[in-house]
Amino acid sequence: MIRHHPSEATLLAYAAGRLPEPHRIVLRTHFALCPACAQTVRLATEIGGALLDEATPAALSAGSLARTLDRLDLRDPAVPAAPVPVTVAALATGRWRWIGPGLRMMSLRPRDAHDARLDLIRVAPGMELPSHGHTGTELTCVLQGAFRDETGVYAVGDVAEGDDTLEHRPAAMPTDETCVCLIATTGRLRAQSWLVRLIQPLIGV
Ligand SMILES: [Zn+2]
Repeated sequence: MIRHHPSEATLLAYAAGRLPEPHRIVLRTHFALCPACAQTVRLATEIGGALLDEATPAALSAGSLARTLDRLDLRDPAVPAAPVPVTVAALATGRWRWIGPGLRMMSLRPRDAHDARLDLIRVAPGMELPSHGHTGTELTCVLQGAFRDETGVYAVGDVAEGDDTLEHRPAAMPTDETCVCLIATTGRLRAQSWLVRLIQPLIGV
């Protein structure tokens, strides 16, 4: 059962097309497992489109909201299945880089013009990452296993959202399964640890 969903602000930003592609891919992965969020985004997109159709330089005319709602197909609750861009089965084909004991990382999209990038991280059961923060946003979706940090426990399908105020020390849950996460970030890693700062230039985070 999914317990951690993206914030409403993030869902609306997705619907409005205001998120970089790496963050969109992480969210689409969540939507494939979470019909509720997929439906929210679908409605927000449709309402946004319908309101744009109605937009005139003058104030909305009487009855325009009713017409907007009429135009939305609310009778069909079915959500088209979002494609899962990254599946655990597909992970075997990529190149995992060693970044520390029990930690490996795979770059899926290098840093783009919006300073956003997409990576996979693989953490052995029970392994802890060094404490760190980010200068931008971080959006994580768990693909396999589970991890915990100061904000909660995250299992398959759960989304963890962080901004530049978050300082955390994620650790894979000590289960049998290796934890695999899809992570979109903007900005750079902030770390106190000399070890992380040593590795940082090597992995470009
Ligand atoms: Zn959700």
